[in-house]
Amino acid sequence: MTFANRHIGPDTDEQTHMLKAIGYASLDALMDAAIPEVIRWHGSLNLPAAASEEETIAELRAIASRNRVTASMIGLGYYGTHTPAVIKRNVLENPAWYTAYTPYQPEISQGRLEALLNFQTMVTDLTGLTTANASMLDEGTAVAEAMTLAKRASKSKSQVYAVDADTLPQTLAVLRTRAEPLGIQLALVDLDAGSSLPEEFFGLHLQYPGASGAVRDHAPLIEAAHRQGALVTVAADLLALTLLRAPGEIGADIAAGTTQRFGVPLAFGGPHAGYLAVRAGLERSLPGRLVGVSKDVDGAPAYRLALQTREQHIRREKATSNICTAQVLLAVMASMYAVYHGPKGLRAIASRVHSHALTLAGSLTAGGVSVQSDAFFDTVTAVVPGRAAAVVAAAADAGIDLRLVDADRVSVATDETTTDAHVAAVLDAFGVAVAGAAECGAQPLARTTEYLTHPVFSSHHSETSMLRYLRKLSDKDYALDRGMIPLGSCTMKLNATTEMEPVTWPEFANIHPYAPASNTAGYEELVSTLEGWLAEITGYDAVSVQPNAGSQGELAGLLAIRGYHRSRGDEHRNVCLIPSSAHGTNAASAVMAGMRVVVVACDDAGNVDLSDLHAKIETHAANLAAIMVTYPSTHGVYETSIADLCAAVHEAGGQVYVDGANLNALVGFARPGKFGADVSHLNLHKTFCIPHGGGGPGVGPVAVRSHLAEFLPGDPLEPGDHHAVSAAAHGSAGILPISWAYLRMMGPDGLAAATGTAVLAANYVASRLREHYPVLYTGSGGLVAHECILDLRPITKATGVSVDDVAKRLIDYGFHAPTMSFPVAGTLMVEPTESEDLAELDRFVAAMIAIKGEIDQVAAGAWPKDDNPLRNAPHTASAVTADEWEHAYPRSVAGFPAGVDRTAKYWPPVRRIDGAYGDRNLVCSCPSPEAFED
Ligand SMILES: *Cc1c(COP(=O)(O)O)cnc(C)c1O
Repeated sequence: MTFANRHIGPDTDEQTHMLKAIGYASLDALMDAAIPEVIRWHGSLNLPAAASEEETIAELRAIASRNRVTASMIGLGYYGTHTPAVIKRNVLENPAWYTAYTPYQPEISQGRLEALLNFQTMVTDLTGLTTANASMLDEGTAVAEAMTLAKRASKSKSQVYAVDADTLPQTLAVLRTRAEPLGIQLALVDLDAGSSLPEEFFGLHLQYPGASGAVRDHAPLIEAAHRQGALVTVAADLLALTLLRAPGEIGADIAAGTTQRFGVPLAFGGPHAGYLAVRAGLERSLPGRLVGVSKDVDGAPAYRLALQTREQHIRREKATSNICTAQVLLAVMASMYAVYHGPKGLRAIASRVHSHALTLAGSLTAGGVSVQSDAFFDTVTAVVPGRAAAVVAAAADAGIDLRLVDADRVSVATDETTTDAHVAAVLDAFGVAVAGAAECGAQPLARTTEYLTHPVFSSHHSETSMLRYLRKLSDKDYALDRGMIPLGSCTMKLNATTEMEPVTWPEFANIHPYAPASNTAGYEELVSTLEGWLAEITGYDAVSVQPNAGSQGELAGLLAIRGYHRSRGDEHRNVCLIPSSAHGTNAASAVMAGMRVVVVACDDAGNVDLSDLHAKIETHAANLAAIMVTYPSTHGVYETSIADLCAAVHEAGGQVYVDGANLNALVGFARPGKFGADVSHLNLHKTFCIPHGGGGPGVGPVAVRSHLAEFLPGDPLEPGDHHAVSAAAHGSAGILPISWAYLRMMGPDGLAAATGTAVLAANYVASRLREHYPVLYTGSGGLVAHECILDLRPITKATGVSVDDVAKRLIDYGFHAPTMSFPVAGTLMVEPTESEDLAELDRFVAAMIAIKGEIDQVAAGAWPKDDNPLRNAPHTASAVTADEWEHAYPRSVAGFPAGVDRTAKYWPPVRRIDGAYGDRNLVCSCPSPEAFED
């Protein structure tokens, strides 16, 4: 059997059955009818023919072997770390964690929500601030989000953001990218040269410790900034904070950074979880997702995502940020690293790291080499006039990479993996002998406060206990390893084990993002091959995998459009047309790219309203920058007007951005770069099999036609004229082997078959459910694309049963709910994908039909409107087995509705959660254990 036959759920017989049900003779006939001829591509993808799983692993092994694993002492925000094996195998390599969806359905996500709450608690404790979100994309983007947060929250009218000159260079590159379109001016402040703060500024960014390793007392500067009405962000190293005074203790308003060195492999730059924390009073301006504590209908404490009203879907162009997919899986890993080591363990690790740095500094000084700062945590910058390159080369010969700062300076960063032998070899490269440790000038800044005092951080230090804690949490959650997750807009398809395997190989996992090119030939090959394949699939000319989420791909693509217009003297072109049905990130990204959003209406059939489009184009023709459309539309329809739309926008001088998150409906059948679009982002964590991780990681490559190629993102360490949207040149490079393997194993035919089957599955579900729930929008031939919207609104109006009720009842039937109320309020959007076999599709259809039967009972008055299996869903084991049962329906209906396997029932751990309560009583760190006593 080929891999494609394993990846695609329905076999030939099942496909025949499904085709028959919708009235088509073949997949080809179906696709011919579904996809408008104007965009249809009849060629065959020029990709290598499918390889087997074994061949693919062998090829990836060969690629991996071209990377050279060294001891990396480059630092700059990325450090060697030991991923505890129990976490590597039971989180990173465990589908119960990596195939989960974002926890929008909190009742079936309590495990990862608890892990994320631990993450938030870890960050707030270590930073000394009050509220942290559940992860950011990386340190660079976290710091950029901190800047815009400061802009929103500061009373100062200034456009100036003061930035510590000792900031990580990649962070500075990302800050520049984000500042420019918003009209924010960065003012570098050299703290050592005593250069003073600008006269007026709205915010100040400080690095702690600095890129050079220097640890400075920032308290006086923070005070000075506050006197000017500015907000202060401290980008702090969390491991250093186990020994150093916390940002919150020195007056910082915001802390930002990365949690990479808490057990998350370097992976050539990512994925890692960034963090962002704020002081009291700023929590409601915090971007990203925030886990909070609420309660279920029985009053039991329960976790959920708090303040969801801030999400881009609701706020759109007024959103605080465009972040959607974040880094949940990596945040879970980092939090578990803290749980496993506890406060004492972390302090011991930090002390070891620091003591190696002390030995380095002391020995260098004793050997006559001066060091730049006598106050440091893990990074020592040595001054070796004219000799820096030679020292770096000598260390490289010993298998150790150091950072060449300039011709006269070398930085050495110690980390958890540093040994005495490494220290000796480094000193040898400098030509000095090991001598005693230095005195550290950071002593006055030593931390005196406690952290990680919650019992969870001291309860699971044995491996047995850790293993069971991880199992206990993952057992609470519903992920793809239990059943289908029919989420519209999110393509929750198979994440094959063979695709996942290479991710943890040392040759991919243990490469520093700024390792010398001689060590990264394998990665360079992997990236360029993958970018080439994606260009072929999309019909574009150039691709960059740097954006580490779809949202960042959008920003990169819009910045390319902005760069293009400006290069032609069209600075005034800043209007971005966005259909009302668009994904919320689109509008938020447009604003971040300095554009003005003009909304285009949709007609009754759900398509872009062409007359409104033409009117808006006419009104804004002179200033038109772009249109952003999703294709197929977020309504799950292949709109026939797309080619006309592209032409009309081009005619007015605008560029066409096609949001490619729905590419699963196009691969092998239509290519946006050839049907009129200029730029797209793709979501590798949707179409190309990177698992969703419970809400990240993601990869959002940006793909452009040739005229935009020069405006693609560049290396953040050598930005030149290019912008950088992530802190590493290839973003989350460590998970690219997943998509590479998928494409290699599917081959051109397999990919086209996957697309066809995805469209078939969506139409099969739509046609089987249509008589029970109206299907809202369809395209030509009454067909949908790869997803369909079930309209619950008439049902809700007639019976009071809401989309929420149906979504929660699906849990009792053993399903994850479809996407709720997006893109249309009061509806459910279903995307079955190609990976679910007929039995699972039928199980879902049967559950939905049975639920409709229950709705009919409510309508008929058999069950009261406020006491029925829908309104009370989901039912926990505890509720169903309670000694008292006073409901109008029997326990068996509650717990074992039709079709549920009684021997393998998924029981949600909590009942329906009260969202409003959680938002009113915002608690975003671990509640005390007593809160769980009944
Ligand atoms: C998922 C999605 C996005 C955003 O992607 P993220 O990786 O979550 O940032 C944008 N547009 C559409 C249509 C999507 O479905």
